Amino acid sequence: MLSEFYFDNAATTIISPEALKSYSECALEYMGNPSANHREGQRAHEKLEEERRLFASKLKIKPEQLFFTSGATESIQIVLSSLLWAKSPGEVIISKIEHEAVSSWSGILKEKGWVVKTLKAKGGFVSPEELEESITEKTRLVAIMMVNNVTGAIQDIDTLVKVTRRKEKEFGRKIFFFSDCVQALGKIPFSLTSLDIDGACFSSHKIAGARGIGALFLKKGEIQTLAKAGGQEKGVRGGTENLPSIAAFTSAYLSCPEDMSDIEEIYNETRKIFQENGIKILSPETNTSPFILSITTPLPSEVLTRMLIDKGWCVSSGSACSNNAKGKGEGILQAMGFSAKDSRGAIRISFFHYSSLSRAKELAEEIIKIVREF
Ligand code: PLP
Repeated sequence: MLSEFYFDNAATTIISPEALKSYSECALEYMGNPSANHREGQRAHEKLEEERRLFASKLKIKPEQLFFTSGATESIQIVLSSLLWAKSPGEVIISKIEHEAVSSWSGILKEKGWVVKTLKAKGGFVSPEELEESITEKTRLVAIMMVNNVTGAIQDIDTLVKVTRRKEKEFGRKIFFFSDCVQALGKIPFSLTSLDIDGACFSSHKIAGARGIGALFLKKGEIQTLAKAGGQEKGVRGGTENLPSIAAFTSAYLSCPEDMSDIEEIYNETRKIFQENGIKILSPETNTSPFILSITTPLPSEVLTRMLIDKGWCVSSGSACSNNAKGKGEGILQAMGFSAKDSRGAIRISFFHYSSLSRAKELAEEIIKIVREF
């Protein structure tokens, strides 16, 4: 079975049977457009709101704070493009380890006159002190991810938000705190409400849901978007709602267990094998997600991944959320303080609940064997 050799779950997961069942049942049973005013439209609308209630309830937020989008990239775009309405450009602070879905906004904002400051993340973590020093009276938004997709480092969002709130008081101006929670949803415990985050994004295909569906959390339940289009999702995200995918996403999220001992066992055992055999681990020792294990070897990552791919394994070099292109993730690793050599040899192995411990061990041994032969 292919899934046994699949260790690229931070890039995407395989849809679960339950999510697929929810997708097909919803697609067949709810034929109407949720905006239509006939009976089938009404039923689809009720189904949509029921999915929102279920999702929001597990996330411990209000349903009116949750908006379904086409993915995390679009959720991020909704938030960052809203800045373009500002009468005069201000400052935005992001970290150097953000996913491209966030970092690519840097160029657009700069072109429109915004100042974009990027925070380093020595050792994998954004420093609250550096954030504090960077916030000025012109800062409008801070975007720092919860779990890094290259190494799995879990950021101290609690302290980072507290710093932001302190500065907000000092300058007497609202600063929107956004967090990309794609690699955190269903994988690590967190509470958006107690963290006091203003906005967050999620993606279905990282937790065995359908592709092309995501969500946006907005504390205030509103945002000034560039285009309201048909006004769906209260004007936050126009366009006909992808109801079957929303049902699959909700089902996948509800199926995410609280107990992560299966993943922790796979992670710990695999990490131990690498450590015992002198392979350098890039993922931090603490405050790290058990779903992502990043290592580095003296072989260039594209050479090692190619050899592994030829043997049937699926892993990625650095951070291949979109492809295995050379250099992807290297910049992020260097921003964390790793050398160019370590960054060039980086391999990301990522797990999900269907991952097999014995296959993970086999993969680790295969990597060690290849490295020794070289
Ligand atoms: N943010 C992070 C941390 C990711 O890993 C990904 C995955 O590609 C994204 C954002 C983009 O998510 P999506 O594919 O739903 O647009």
